[in-house]
Amino acid sequence: MPSVYNWQIGRQMRYPYEQAAPKEQFAFVININRCIGCQTCTMACKSTWTFAKGQEHMWWTNVETKPYGGYPQHWDVKILDMLEQANPDGQRWRGKANGDSQKPYGEFRGKTVYESPEFVARGKQPNQVLGYLPTDEEWRFPNIYEDVTQHGQSKPMDFGRGEDISEGKKHRAWFFYLARLCNHCSYPACLAACPRSAIYKRPEDGIVLIDQKECRGYRKCVEACPYKKSLYRGTTRTSEKCIGCYPRVEGTDPETDGSPMETRCMAACIGQARMQGLVKVAKDTAWIEDRYNPLYYLVHVAKVALPLYPQLGTETNGYYIPPRWVPVSYLEQMFGPGVEDAVQRYRAPDRELLAVLQLFRRSNQIISRYRIEEGPRVYQTEVNGKKFEMYDDTIIAYNRSDKEIFRTKVEEPFYVRPAKHANTI
Ligand code: SF4
Ligand code: SF4
Repeated sequence: MPSVYNWQIGRQMRYPYEQAAPKEQFAFVININRCIGCQTCTMACKSTWTFAKGQEHMWWTNVETKPYGGYPQHWDVKILDMLEQANPDGQRWRGKANGDSQKPYGEFRGKTVYESPEFVARGKQPNQVLGYLPTDEEWRFPNIYEDVTQHGQSKPMDFGRGEDISEGKKHRAWFFYLARLCNHCSYPACLAACPRSAIYKRPEDGIVLIDQKECRGYRKCVEACPYKKSLYRGTTRTSEKCIGCYPRVEGTDPETDGSPMETRCMAACIGQARMQGLVKVAKDTAWIEDRYNPLYYLVHVAKVALPLYPQLGTETNGYYIPPRWVPVSYLEQMFGPGVEDAVQRYRAPDRELLAVLQLFRRSNQIISRYRIEEGPRVYQTEVNGKKFEMYDDTIIAYNRSDKEIFRTKVEEPFYVRPAKHANTI
């Protein structure tokens, strides 16, 4: 059984499949603080890829309301429960998030989904990967518990360690929107579990695809994917999943003249919550330093974007800026030990972070690098007793050919509608 290095859990890990790292890796960052749950991303994907017969229940990308929502229903509670059984001593992390790029979140001491199967009584042959097959019923309600809050506390919520979220005011209730798609994992569970080797990771961009000609619909990938992002289609008797909008990422869309373009779900986001790109990775899948790639900056320099359930062990390529108003203990289980620092940094962003956050959704093209031109200080205040300054810097985005795509400023321009166009009717 090959052993691989998983930098998100800070250690070597068992992975039941031999594979090479891609040249570049598809990755994305979703800023939960900006997601308004409008489902535009969901519909952009659905209307592009899953509108045919037999795909009615397929939502390759979806937005669920946490803590109760989930598609399929309770997917995270179920897999975490199984992992808990496999880790009787708890899912423990050792060390703290720090600057070490080999172990940025410390080390996960529990067992991942690849190291657990034999510890869980399954009543049959142990599988390669810890997992379960959702019932038909669980796939039926993609929006169940939408906008349902965690509440019922007679006293204000205890936010645990760290500071209370909104400037000293305690919330009695909270929820947040978790937008999800296939993470095009570096160590995909779907791929490892397929007995037909029908699933592969593209060497050029790390996008994970199911070869429809090879698939026989055994649903091993559906069972194995801990994020439940491989789905079965009864009409074709094959499994299907997000294809990372690969024709767009390849740059074959005439709109961008050969330059890589973001996926449909990313480009459609009206909340300016999503950014997708390509990052350079080494043979061991660690990210190669690329200081001015915005994804590299958000994940490895500013460390405000964190992987979803890193303890599962698939080394996901989807990252999230955690919400500011949710108890830390809940977020830590979801995003690992880097949460508290990430929330603090996001609450009072430094000059560069504030500028990089303006890059979200200004263009459909994938941003390969950015540059900042300094502007004047326009605002200052105090956040948590510390000085906070805002500068009206200009941030400039470049595509793969190093051509400028756009430039934007930290302070958004203020437009006054002329009186003769007071409304649009
Ligand atoms: S999220 Fe699931 S379907 Fe997507 S690559 Fe990872 S294991 Fe496979
Ligand atoms: S389009 Fe953007 S803001 Fe709307 S639900 Fe999707 S991620 Fe959230």
